[in-house]
Amino acid sequence: MKRQSQLSAFLQSLPKAEHHLHIEGACPWEIMTQSDPQQFDTPPPSWCKDYRFKTFDDFEQLIFKYVVPWMTNPERYAQTVEELFKVRRAENTRYMEFSFAGIALEFTGLSAREIAKAIKAAVPEDIEARLYIGLHHGGFSKNQDRYLSEILDTPEIDGIDLHGPEEFPLHDWSKEFWKAAKSAGKALKAHAGELSGPSSVREAIEDLGVTKIQHGINAVKDPGVLDLAVQSGASFDICPISNVKLQNVSKMSAHPLFEIEAAGVPCTLNTDDPFIFGNTLTDDYLAVAQGLNATPEQLAQFARNSFTTADLPEHAKKEAIAEIDTRLQTHLECSR
Ligand SMILES: [Zn+2]
Repeated sequence: MKRQSQLSAFLQSLPKAEHHLHIEGACPWEIMTQSDPQQFDTPPPSWCKDYRFKTFDDFEQLIFKYVVPWMTNPERYAQTVEELFKVRRAENTRYMEFSFAGIALEFTGLSAREIAKAIKAAVPEDIEARLYIGLHHGGFSKNQDRYLSEILDTPEIDGIDLHGPEEFPLHDWSKEFWKAAKSAGKALKAHAGELSGPSSVREAIEDLGVTKIQHGINAVKDPGVLDLAVQSGASFDICPISNVKLQNVSKMSAHPLFEIEAAGVPCTLNTDDPFIFGNTLTDDYLAVAQGLNATPEQLAQFARNSFTTADLPEHAKKEAIAEIDTRLQTHLECSR
């Protein structure tokens, strides 16, 4: 028991960076339930540790039940981000890459620029944040060109990410837009290899020029794709608790995280949608410790990866990594 709480305290205090988080999936429950106790009377059932989604549709139902009625204006995006950073600061998170969903703009009629400005203004000064907009495979159903040019012209949007059901084919507009976004100085990401097979990871790398793959776990099923990921310098931003609760892996002990890392693809640990899964970033590190018997040294390596793959100056990466090394050393000495 003592060993367990020492490990929790070590993971909580470890400097960390998060690379994969959906702002709409980070709704601030306390504020929601206080502001509208009737609409938001019970938290999502998926907070239970043993909860498993039967289908991806079930996951989407929760988005419609909680997120859609809540995320209706830029102020609520800002409030969500403020609350998120209170939790992340308490677990020593120094850097964040997060996204908001482009498809939501069509429901709400809000502008990408307005939301991006509100989100960026809510980021505390001592935490570095890079904001991505997630674009559905099918793009926007109306006014696609106007939306896309607004994204390129909004400096608060640092990058683009591919969202939505992965079984959809990659459309020609995506290939062109990922190229245009790169030329405009935006960073590139894509969700791939979560719900679909390894070929989606190959497409993201070869057709979109992406090296920051969101999930990517099914790449493990094709050694050629894993090799391509290594050769192209890709990193995978993996969300262990999300992968288990959505049953994209059967159980934590079957998660391919270590196979991917051992193949030479640096992996980071992330929460994905902390409001839906009921997880903190420390919880994902703990879940890997418990489910995959990860050692403190291995857990510290994931924290190091989260800085080596961050968009930070070299000196900031070195400082964070030196602090990780010191905290690891202290933890190992205390737990002897
Ligand atoms: Zn995601």
